[in-house]
Amino acid sequence: MSALVEAKGLTKHFRIGRGQIVHAVDDMSLDIHEREIVGLVGESGSGKSTFGKALLGLHDKTAGKVRFDGETLPGRYRPADFQRYASRMQMIFQDPYSSLNPRMTVGEIIGEGLRLHSDLSGAEIRERVHDWLRRVGLEPDHASRYPHEFSGGQRQRVGIARALIMQPQFVVCDEPISALDVSVQAQIVRLLGELKSSMGLTMLFIAHDLSMVRYVSDRMAVMYLGSLIEVGVSDDVFFRPKHPYTELLIGSNPQPDPRIERGRETVAIEGEIPSPVNVGAGCRFAGRCPKVMSVCRTDTPPLFKVRDETGERRVACHLYADGGDTAPSGVQGNGGSNGGGV
Ligand code: SF4
Repeated sequence: MSALVEAKGLTKHFRIGRGQIVHAVDDMSLDIHEREIVGLVGESGSGKSTFGKALLGLHDKTAGKVRFDGETLPGRYRPADFQRYASRMQMIFQDPYSSLNPRMTVGEIIGEGLRLHSDLSGAEIRERVHDWLRRVGLEPDHASRYPHEFSGGQRQRVGIARALIMQPQFVVCDEPISALDVSVQAQIVRLLGELKSSMGLTMLFIAHDLSMVRYVSDRMAVMYLGSLIEVGVSDDVFFRPKHPYTELLIGSNPQPDPRIERGRETVAIEGEIPSPVNVGAGCRFAGRCPKVMSVCRTDTPPLFKVRDETGERRVACHLYADGGDTAPSGVQGNGGSNGGGV
């Protein structure tokens, strides 16, 4: 599989005055292959949404680059760039209510992208809107209704139809289920899984619920305080996490899967995620890590390549500097940065 989206050293900082800088995303490198869903997980404030928006040009990039389908995207989008990439890259938003214009009918909302970015006639757009309403489990006659007439789950189906009617090559789903009831979350995740199979979607799926992410994604990437700290095949990461933070994150999952290894340490994550303002050297998880060592406080761990039972894994933790417990003798870092897509 070739990479459709390649982030190389992607960095997004926000200046907040008095010389203070929020390190929302630091030196993130991640490849997303064609027809692959990568789940991106981490606590609130870890930088997941900022990374997804920077990929799509919704945030200017402070440093690093994004390549899409072999083309390097602008660091700062101009209006023409949004126009140019609108039909190829789309976002499905967290809050299906606030992202839908309450004054437009659902048919107008879903068809708006085609009206702006295609040469289709009004009748052709109507036909596609009806088709997409069916594909997301709604009825064609829902096109004449307004967003407030729908439940949260139905509104998210409208948001999905609005994004996918453009036949995008790449979609960022930014916490698409977190505002929904648990039973509805499962329906939406199932729908996205079906659409992935039928459309060959390539997707970054951002969410809190690791069991949902595991269900829908091929690989799972874990962020902590603006950095990528572990990435691998979803089942490997979920059932056999290597980074202490991933282990705690999965252990604190409200609905742990019974197949999670018995006897594994499942201590709750203590404390809050630290402030991302003026982050210093060393491992960013050191202040909360039960396995912290002196080197962790001074040296930032690169992503070490660790081969595990069923796939390739990268873990940013000094515990893997000498190969870790399952790493082969050829374990290698990447020179102190997250450079090199994973
Ligand atoms: Fe813990 Fe050190 Fe690994 Fe960071 S580098 S996760 S502090 S053991």
